[in-house]
Amino acid sequence: MSTPKELYKKDNQYVWHHMKPYQKNQNAMVVQEADGAWITDIEGNQLLDGMSGLWCVNVGYGRTELADAAAEQLRTLPYYPLSNSHVPAIELADKLNDWLEGDYRIVYANSGSEANETAFKLARQYHKQNGSPHKYKFISRYRSYHGSTLGALAATGQAQRKHLYEPLPPGFVHVHAPEEYRIPNGRTFEEWSLECAQMIEDTILWERPETVAGVIMEPIITGGGILIPHESYLKKVEQICREHNVLLMIDEVICGFGRTGKKFGFQHYNITPDIVTMAKGITSGYLPLSAAAVRQEIYEPFKEEGEDSHFRHVNTFGGNPAACRLALKNLEIMEEEGLCTKSQKNGDKLREELAKLDNHPNVGNIRHKGLLVGLELVEDKDSKKPASSSYLAKIMGECKKNGLIVGKNADTVSGYSNVLTLAPPLNITDEDLTFIV
Ligand code: PLP
Repeated sequence: MSTPKELYKKDNQYVWHHMKPYQKNQNAMVVQEADGAWITDIEGNQLLDGMSGLWCVNVGYGRTELADAAAEQLRTLPYYPLSNSHVPAIELADKLNDWLEGDYRIVYANSGSEANETAFKLARQYHKQNGSPHKYKFISRYRSYHGSTLGALAATGQAQRKHLYEPLPPGFVHVHAPEEYRIPNGRTFEEWSLECAQMIEDTILWERPETVAGVIMEPIITGGGILIPHESYLKKVEQICREHNVLLMIDEVICGFGRTGKKFGFQHYNITPDIVTMAKGITSGYLPLSAAAVRQEIYEPFKEEGEDSHFRHVNTFGGNPAACRLALKNLEIMEEEGLCTKSQKNGDKLREELAKLDNHPNVGNIRHKGLLVGLELVEDKDSKKPASSSYLAKIMGECKKNGLIVGKNADTVSGYSNVLTLAPPLNITDEDLTFIV
C-alpha cells in the first residue's frame, strides 16, 4: 500500500486532472472513501460533499445495496451488446417510462455527452426520414452546458470551454435564457421569460424552419448558474417547437432523478419533450450509464424497410447489464425513501436556513428548486455588479478549510464566476444541512 506522500507524488506525475489549471492540481485531494454526504481523504480528513461529486450522487455514498446489485449482475451476465437484448436493459427501460410518465423508447449510452450526441444524430435522421431532409440545426442557450464531445460542446453556450477546440460542428445557434435576478428594463419576469421564448421562434424563422431540427435545453440551467425560468417559459417553447416541427430535446443530465424535487425537471412545467437525455443521477454516479429517451412517435420512421432506415449508431458499452441493474436498484431506493419529495423538502429547509445570509451585503440572490441551489454573489446589492471570481474562489477555499465542498458556476461571458452552487445528496440529514449553512 502506497503512503500518502507516494500517492501525491504519483498523482502529480501521472494523473491529468483536466478540469482545473495545472497550478491548482498539485497535491489535489485524494479521496479514499465516502459515506452519506461525507468523503474522507487519504489522510483521514473528512469533508461534507455539498456537490454530490459532480452533481450526481443523489442517494448518497456508501449504499452497499447498489454495489451488491451490480456485483450480482456481473456474476451472471457482465456484458452483452444491445444489438440483441438483456433483462436489466428491458426492466430499466420499463421503469424509466414510469418515471417519465410517457411512452418513450430508450437508447442507452454511458455519459451525458454521449446521450446528447445520440439525441442530435437521432433528431437529424428522424427529420430526414420524415420528409424534412434539410432540418439539421439545433438551437440551444448561452450559459448552458451539454457536454464535452464535439457536438455537445457545439450546443454548449459557454465560449470559454469551446474556443480552444474550434471549429466545432456547424449548425448550432444560441439564444438567451431568462434570468430572474437580471431582468432588463423593468419587465416582469414572466414578460422577460416569454420574450426569451419568442427569441427561439424568431431564431427558427431567421434560420428558416425547414433547416431547424431541434431545440435543446436543460429545464433549469445548472452549471451555468442555476437559472430557473418562469413557469410559463417551457410551455411556450414547447408550443413554438410544435408549430415549426422542431423537436423539443430536454437535457436532464443534472436536473433528472429528483435533483429539483420531481423525478425529472421538465415535470415542473407541464410539457412533453420529444427527447429526454439523462445520465449522472440515473446510477447516482456509482457506474457510468446514460440514456436518450425518445417519444414513440419519433421512432416510427425508423421502422421503415431499407438498409438506411434504422439508427446507424453503435455503442459498445451503452446499457451495460451491471450499470442497468444498479440503476434499477438506485431508482428503487429513491422510490422507497421518497427522495424526490425529500429533495423538495430539504431544498426548502436549506433555503430557510440560508435566509441568515439574505442581508449579507455580498449575497445578491439565493435561488433553488429542490436541492439545486445557487447563491449569487455581488459587489453590492444595488448595482448587482457580480463579485469577482477571486472572491468566490476565496469563499470556496474557506468552506473547504471548514470541511465543506461547494461548487461554482462556469464563467460568464464577462469572465465572472460568482454563483456558489450546492447540490448535496437528496437524503442529506438535518444536521448536515445545518453544517452547510
Ligand atoms: N449535460 C449537462 C446538463 C451536464 O451538466 C453535463 C455534465 O456535467 C453533461 C450534459 C455531460 O455529461 P457527461 O460529463 O457525463 O458527459
